[in-house]
Amino acid sequence: MPDIIHLLPPNIANQIAAGEVIQRPSSAVKELLENAVDAGATSIQLIVQDAGKSLVQVVDNGKGMSDTDARNAFERHATSKINSIEDLYTIKTMGFRGEALASIASVAQVILRTKRLDDAIGTELEIENSKPLRQEPCACENGTSIAMKNLFFNVPARRNFLKSNTVELKHITDEFIHVALSFPEINFTMTSNGQEVFHLDAGSLKQRIVQLMGNNYSTKLVQVAEKTDYLDIHGFIGKPDTAKKTRGDQYLFVNNRYIKNAYLNHAIFSAYEEMLAPNSFPFFAIFIDLDPAHVDINVHPTKQEIKFDDEKIIYAFVKSAIRHALAQYSVAPALDFSLDASIQQLDAVAKPFTSNKQEETRSSGLYKSFVDQHQAHKIESTSNLRDWKEFFEGAPKQNNPSRQQIDFSSSYREATTPHIPDVLNMIEGAEPFQMQMSYIVFDQPKGITLLHQQLAHQQILFEKFNASWTGKALAIQQELFPQAIQFSPSDFQLVGSILPDLLQMGYQLEAFGINTYVLQGAPADFPSENHRSVIEMILEDVKTSTSTLHQSYKEKIAKTMARKHAIKIGSKLDARLMRDIVDQLSRLPNYHTHFDGKPLYMEVKKEYLGSIFGI
Ligand code: ADP
Ligand code: MG
Repeated sequence: MPDIIHLLPPNIANQIAAGEVIQRPSSAVKELLENAVDAGATSIQLIVQDAGKSLVQVVDNGKGMSDTDARNAFERHATSKINSIEDLYTIKTMGFRGEALASIASVAQVILRTKRLDDAIGTELEIENSKPLRQEPCACENGTSIAMKNLFFNVPARRNFLKSNTVELKHITDEFIHVALSFPEINFTMTSNGQEVFHLDAGSLKQRIVQLMGNNYSTKLVQVAEKTDYLDIHGFIGKPDTAKKTRGDQYLFVNNRYIKNAYLNHAIFSAYEEMLAPNSFPFFAIFIDLDPAHVDINVHPTKQEIKFDDEKIIYAFVKSAIRHALAQYSVAPALDFSLDASIQQLDAVAKPFTSNKQEETRSSGLYKSFVDQHQAHKIESTSNLRDWKEFFEGAPKQNNPSRQQIDFSSSYREATTPHIPDVLNMIEGAEPFQMQMSYIVFDQPKGITLLHQQLAHQQILFEKFNASWTGKALAIQQELFPQAIQFSPSDFQLVGSILPDLLQMGYQLEAFGINTYVLQGAPADFPSENHRSVIEMILEDVKTSTSTLHQSYKEKIAKTMARKHAIKIGSKLDARLMRDIVDQLSRLPNYHTHFDGKPLYMEVKKEYLGSIFGI
């Protein structure tokens, strides 16, 4: 038998390694931009074609490379940035692993042109599949231009894995914004398919934020600046009214490196406390600088996740710095909140944050008591008095799931297999009334039926919106006073790419100057809604969708629209409207279950009511 283990050829080994570093066009954007920054450039251009799938090019005026360095740059673990393992702890550059160019060259076609200031002539190098194809002298500008063409041309499986251009371009824009925020002293431009998307002149951080996020931010930023022995925090946060219903404009940097860290984001959000509406998120660009010895930036190859020595201390620092800033600008009620307060005693440090708390407040008692079973319920006379009492007094305690089991036990569950005529016949003829400003109640000979007004209406609207993707678009009402909506540049791009979908949903937008659309028309049946926030929610759906072609993307938008436009709990309904809801609901193919899996109504039988009183 022959031996079977052999070494992989270098180009395949590189391709495998590349999988970690270069996942999509935006990963190359990040690496190339960071290399340009590391090279000391004062001006950097990003050029993409086809959302980076056919071209990602970065041109800088940095220090350039010699012709030997140009070749070596594409070797794996070739770097000019560290010499020994100790250097890792004092690292000042963005890159250091020496993997990026090798990875890029293994999965794309690369053309490099570079020249150092003191050299009379530069060098041009072409590499494909990790193999140099040619190198020759060139008369080029000082600095470096690297063009990456046809990413994954030699790994079709990975090319197919790429998302729609809308999604990939969004990732690229995000990376661009991260680097641009980190280095406001550098000029940046970004061009996509020949159109300049960003033109950022060197300036202050504040100017950079306004250039990136839009002019309306210029009066809405609060400066944060705290220096301590352990760490420095600086940057800007949005006044509470910059808060949006969706996340996305939150930028956190550690030692000038963009990171993702839900824990520290929470520190910032929680500093705003009651200044924010529930589930809304203010803008921030916060920079934390600390001794590199206290952070490990090496945990993730794309370096967006980092480990701190002591996260809790940082949490407390960040939270108090933000509160301090809000108080100073008298956005917050003035608080005697000095940074020197003993950090360990802060609430935030003592109690780690949980999302449960939020959950708790969101769930209303009665509602919760029958939501969990994910289907319509009938209460049979087998249940006992105590449960019924609890039903009226509020939800069974959440920490007692077995109780809920008793309430809606299997004894009646079989009986709930949809009996369409049964339910609706009962409803028919009965005069509805409203209970708790939340339920439509029908009193009938056989018992009572409670319909959840908000969930039921959401389901009706969902079916309507979802059907309008394939059928008739939603009717549009022209706005009497068209409203201008300013977006961040990246959201502006995104809106541009989904205009037909927005139109189908009743939103007629026309481009109007820089990063601005004018809302010419809105869904005719929903005149009073806050259109801007619906559009923002739809953008969020797009950002979190894998593809804009997929059915699930359209369903997501239909759900968002339904949630936004449906009648809410707490709205008073008149008899006609109640009957209308039941009418429309009864015509749906599924009127038992909400698209989230919750039941839409429950029935309480006459016998059960009687049994409560021992009859
Ligand atoms: P790293 O950035 O981790 O060192 P890379 O593979 O990204 O690894 O780059 C390898 C080397 O190529 C860098 O260390 C640097 O010396 C050189 N290099 C890359 N891009 C540029 C550039 N735009 N200008 C000058 N030198 C560059
Ligand atoms: Mg690099």
